[in-house]
Amino acid sequence: MPNPVRPTAGLHRAVIFLGPPGAGKGTQAKLAAKEHGIPHLSTGDMLRDHVARGTALGKLAKQYMDGGNLVPDDLVLQMVEERISQADCANGFVLDGFPRTLPQAEKLDAILQRKAWGRPLVVHFAVDSAQLLRRLTGRRTCKVGGEIYNIYDSPPKVAGRCDNDGGELIQRADDREEVIAERLAVYEKQTRVLIEYYRAQGILVDVNGMAKPAEVAERVQQILASAVANPVK
Ligand code: AMP
Repeated sequence: MPNPVRPTAGLHRAVIFLGPPGAGKGTQAKLAAKEHGIPHLSTGDMLRDHVARGTALGKLAKQYMDGGNLVPDDLVLQMVEERISQADCANGFVLDGFPRTLPQAEKLDAILQRKAWGRPLVVHFAVDSAQLLRRLTGRRTCKVGGEIYNIYDSPPKVAGRCDNDGGELIQRADDREEVIAERLAVYEKQTRVLIEYYRAQGILVDVNGMAKPAEVAERVQQILASAVANPVK
């Protein structure tokens, strides 16, 4: 079947990728953002960057992240508001890993209203917990370019090295088994409620995150193309 819409000039929409840790949000958000030429805003990546640079925010955030807990809402909200105010977000952006609590979602709504973005489009990735564990314990990330591999399901050609640039593949500190359990519990306790919050507003679309990455990408592409074709008023 021909693909009717191959947009390249932005989505003109705030898009949220919602789902538990390991659902594939990061991989899919990178692809979708590239496809539409808009920024991929991962709050986890932004916070890890602050930690690596040793900023005041990074020093505060580290203790929460290391234990698999959420960084306080006000810190994350300020970081996100600053980021989406930058010029490169003018044609839309993909939020990955944000919002994660009801107060974050409510404050994001207020920010989006104030900035005349209107209501976001929410793509929800559903994956069962056994699969999440396999993905998180197997996940390795390139230290240089950030490409994501899985030692079980999508290993690199040479163990420990990125196929693209030969960069070292590292395991995130919070992808160790004892921290993963806490992160999944935090998702259930604090983030899952957002599915109903957005579904009730009629702006959430479900994606079967258990499908192969290429199939998930195709489905996400359809959802986003349809959002471009039917802009919010
Ligand atoms: P992620 O890369 O999305 O799995 O995020 C890694 C860690 O960063 C999380 O376990 C939290 O400690 C922190 N974090 C990322 N996004 C948020 C958020 N929206 N609210 C609070 N903490 C966050």
